[in-house]
Amino acid sequence: MNLVLMGLPGAGKGTQAEKIVGKYNIPHISTGDMFRGAIKEGTELGLQAKAFMDKGELVPDDVTIGIVRERLSKEDCKNGFLLDGFPRTVAQAEALDSMLFDLGKKIDYVINIDVDQSILMERLTGRRICKNCGATYHLVFNPPAKEGICDRCGGELYQRADDNAETVQNRLDVNIQQAKPLFHFYEEKGYLRNINGQQDIDVVFADIEKLLGGLNE
Ligand SMILES: [Zn+2]
Repeated sequence: MNLVLMGLPGAGKGTQAEKIVGKYNIPHISTGDMFRGAIKEGTELGLQAKAFMDKGELVPDDVTIGIVRERLSKEDCKNGFLLDGFPRTVAQAEALDSMLFDLGKKIDYVINIDVDQSILMERLTGRRICKNCGATYHLVFNPPAKEGICDRCGGELYQRADDNAETVQNRLDVNIQQAKPLFHFYEEKGYLRNINGQQDIDVVFADIEKLLGGLNE
């Protein structure tokens, strides 16, 4: 079960990743964890990555790809893996395909948790924080009893600058622009499966289970 998980910010990718690795007992391989692991183990590539990160620079593709290759070659990936946050570009996706080929593997599915932009905006801009006690609310998922007022202390609720519509829209735009060629690439390859992420968390996961169930038949 070799999977790549994709989804825009707010799509619920992290939640579904946890459920997938919990049920299917495959490692969740996120880019951040992978870098931290390689650095901790002190591998040659890990040290190279660290040198770039310490300078505040982006880790170049060949180093990143090398680290992914090391990680996917490990024993715990024998029965599969869930890649999250990699690949980010078509060049990385091509490198992934060829390294999997070398390892005698291939991607089974690229799962995209699909959510309309308007709903992502609602999810990502809904956080409110109490000025007085710091309690956090969400207009959709955890609204206060009285609009704009903290349930706990009666303090005034505010929105962080990071959460305002313009900032969030920019962040989404950047992500969409980056993901578009990747979706196209995986669609052409026949790997891409869109899962409706606008349903309840458990229903989204049930749809993923249905898809993955087919792999064992
Ligand atoms: Zn409060």
